[in-house]
Amino acid sequence: MLKIYYHRELGGWQKPEITPFENLSLHPAAKALHYAVQLFEGLKAYRGRDDKIRMFRPDLNMERMNLAAQRSGLPMFDGDELVKCIKRLVQIDQEWVPHSETSTLYIRPTLIGVEPTFGIQAPDSALLFVILSPVSAYYKKSKDGAVSIYADPNVVRAFPGGVGNRKVGSNYGPTIEATSRAEKLGHQQVLWLFGPNHELTEVGAMNIFIVYINEQGDKQLSTPPLNGLILPGVTRRSILELTSQWEDLVVKEEVITMNRLIELNKQGRLLEMFGAGTAVVISPISRVGFLDTDVNIPTMQQPQPVYQRVKDTLLAIQYGHLEHPYATII
Ligand code: PMP
Repeated sequence: MLKIYYHRELGGWQKPEITPFENLSLHPAAKALHYAVQLFEGLKAYRGRDDKIRMFRPDLNMERMNLAAQRSGLPMFDGDELVKCIKRLVQIDQEWVPHSETSTLYIRPTLIGVEPTFGIQAPDSALLFVILSPVSAYYKKSKDGAVSIYADPNVVRAFPGGVGNRKVGSNYGPTIEATSRAEKLGHQQVLWLFGPNHELTEVGAMNIFIVYINEQGDKQLSTPPLNGLILPGVTRRSILELTSQWEDLVVKEEVITMNRLIELNKQGRLLEMFGAGTAVVISPISRVGFLDTDVNIPTMQQPQPVYQRVKDTLLAIQYGHLEHPYATII
């Protein structure tokens, strides 16, 4: 594991260390344990058929991590330097990067405030650590290979002025109960809505996309705009950048409400819905439970689904089948 301590009275960031994986020893008053003065990131190392190991746009994870640090009074850092440290860690542990194109090595950078005092203030000591674990891109699915999601208008994940757009642990613990409730009702994930118009924001820990036939009769890929309620996903941004080059698709960031979704579906114009994130890349969605109804979406019935083309493109870049500046060789 990689460990970098920050001590304000010693001039800030200390020398990075790579040590054997071990438990941490924390003072019970460490601010991370009480006020969630902490944040985390998630990215992966992919082994290509050429045996090279790649990361996908780690600079964007560093940017997002620094924004979360700023919001929680945690020390900011030089993202390029941390990427160098992470590359070294992965090099050392390179045999843990699976020799497979269905598994990867998950990289979890974490930053915690460790100052042992009760005040709700910026900690004068912090620990940045990075741990690794091999993972598969497995996700619970329904029989049709897609996921079913449950939208409960009574729970919100994020709100204006909050931290929904930052990857801080306090956004995640409170989603567990709603997710268990969705599971009991036969769904796999929660669709997070916001506001009186039931705006779609995110699904589980993924950004959400729909594909539909727009008013001009063109095929359109849409995702909600980054309005503060949504985590700025690296996958989301990459999908928007890549698909905006595709001539047969209109790409838009726009507010999508439950009414709009139901209306498009009734008119037969809604073609696909999917979630996108580092963990599973793309997760097609075929059913949305909302109030007393089930909205059945024909995602799995499309002859040439956009979600599959997006997924194939991302995987080709991540595993080096397609040379692309998004991939960084370790
Ligand atoms: N939304 C939330 C709430 C998330 O936790 C994640 C995972 N980081 C995402 C979206 C997807 O972001 P990314 O593409 O950077 O993994």
